[in-house]
Amino acid sequence: MSGPALPPWRSVLAVVAHPDDESFGLGAVLSAFVEQGTAVRVLCLTRGEASTLHGVPGDLDAVRERELVDAAKEIGLVGVLLRSYPDGGLAAVALDALAAEAREAARAADADGIVAFDSTGVTGHQDHVRATEAALAAAAVLDLPVLGWTLPRTVADTLNVELGSSFAGHDDDAIDLVVPVDRTRQLRAVTCHASQAVPGSVLWRRLDLLAGREHLRWLTTPSAPAPSTERTGAPAPAATSKDWITP
Ligand SMILES: [Zn+2]
Repeated sequence: MSGPALPPWRSVLAVVAHPDDESFGLGAVLSAFVEQGTAVRVLCLTRGEASTLHGVPGDLDAVRERELVDAAKEIGLVGVLLRSYPDGGLAAVALDALAAEAREAARAADADGIVAFDSTGVTGHQDHVRATEAALAAAAVLDLPVLGWTLPRTVADTLNVELGSSFAGHDDDAIDLVVPVDRTRQLRAVTCHASQAVPGSVLWRRLDLLAGREHLRWLTTPSAPAPSTERTGAPAPAATSKDWITP
């Protein structure tokens, strides 16, 4: 394991599968980036319409978009890009299409790096695995580093024993960054996802076990930064400024 510092990126793009992943999963990491002055944006590939949790009335498709925008404001995000790929069906969507979304969003954000769930998907959900595959494919083209959010193996194992969940963790020697975090913004963002943050959710036990730290792995080895002209270029048409929701 190495140091507690996040990379000093000016701009970061998080690539996630569902509205709430940016808060329940990445919330403390993204708010730590915000607090160090990084401009943080999120690309969310589905509208979360297939969730089995329905803590508030209304059409989940619309409810969850509103929740995402409200949560983004609490975290301090500067932009959200919400796509409508099928919730629960990302693995069946061509990787090229998803990678193009991530690539175009990273270009439009002029991102210095990407944050995603670990390549295991962390929670056992195949949509999470696919979203990270898209992030990695985009990063390979743009030569961007990718940080993966993960759990220590001890935390994953404890959750799986106690709650019958399917979390995947890593041993300490496979974890590159252990970052002290303040969960204030994350907890406010979680509250915005009222349809999902139901009592008894495994989320609460995970946050207990993690306490004040989050764990990250380099999913790509960071290379020397390329001159910005080589990897920014013109924003691609599929992620024009009108697509970004400003929280
Ligand atoms: Zn998710």
